[in-house]
Amino acid sequence: MDTFRGTKLGVPNLYRVLAKHDIKASFFFSVGPDNMGRHLWRLLRPAFLKKMLRTRASSLYGWDILFKGTFWPGPVIGEKLGKIIRSTSDADHEVGLHAWDHHAWQAHLDTMDSDAIHRSLYRGVDLLTRVLGRPPACSAVPAWKCNDLVLVEKDKFPFDYNSDCRGTSIFQPLVEGKQLSQPQVPVTLPTYDEVIGHNGVSNRNYNDYLLSLLEHEKLNVLTIHAEVEGIACLEMFDSFIKMAQSREASFSPLGSFLKDLPALGRAAIIEEEIPGRAGWVSCQAPTESHAIH
Ligand SMILES: [Zn+2]
Repeated sequence: MDTFRGTKLGVPNLYRVLAKHDIKASFFFSVGPDNMGRHLWRLLRPAFLKKMLRTRASSLYGWDILFKGTFWPGPVIGEKLGKIIRSTSDADHEVGLHAWDHHAWQAHLDTMDSDAIHRSLYRGVDLLTRVLGRPPACSAVPAWKCNDLVLVEKDKFPFDYNSDCRGTSIFQPLVEGKQLSQPQVPVTLPTYDEVIGHNGVSNRNYNDYLLSLLEHEKLNVLTIHAEVEGIACLEMFDSFIKMAQSREASFSPLGSFLKDLPALGRAAIIEEEIPGRAGWVSCQAPTESHAIH
């Protein structure tokens, strides 16, 4: 959940579709100010901004009035929509932290030091704890922007596991050769926006394409967005579930994969570029196969 709108509209929609198919999932919430929605709005409306500059509206009205809506902090999602967040937990879905401020994390992680990372995680965990009445069990960074500082800071919070990267198998993260305690459950499948419009994939064949990527007897982790599958692509997601279930696939929260696991391999997290996504994302490095508890 990246935005206020996604949480308000998309989450209850997903909640209904999942209930219909008797599925429990993992929800990761952004709980701080929604500066993302405003950022997206700004990106979608460059023509408006250009017009403003061209017509010199700024000199008539002053920059502060024109930009108030854009630069003002957005609504604090966890304060306004706590009831929705709590309802997913009440329905036995797994609830974790996505971000305090999704946009700030995505835009500034590269320059954030350990203190700034800790503060951001702390604010998110603190608000989510107040909303849920208990600390979140897990977390997943925005846009798969993770680094060693993040891994070390996360280890100081009581997360059972984190899902901060792309990869192929559950592993124990390594930072400078040292094994941290919280396992990583990587995302194995691409997101909707990464594949749509590429290599002949359209809304017509998207579900078939996604199903073709599922691998038997292996870890299959799919990320959906409340803003996409929960709103615009809700029906398509509903039929994806039906198609997958008819092929005997089943759906579980990520935490359930951690039960009864054999000893995990160990891997570092590295930055890589992946198809369909701008910039780098965190990926599971080649995993040391020898198992260490
Ligand atoms: Zn996100």
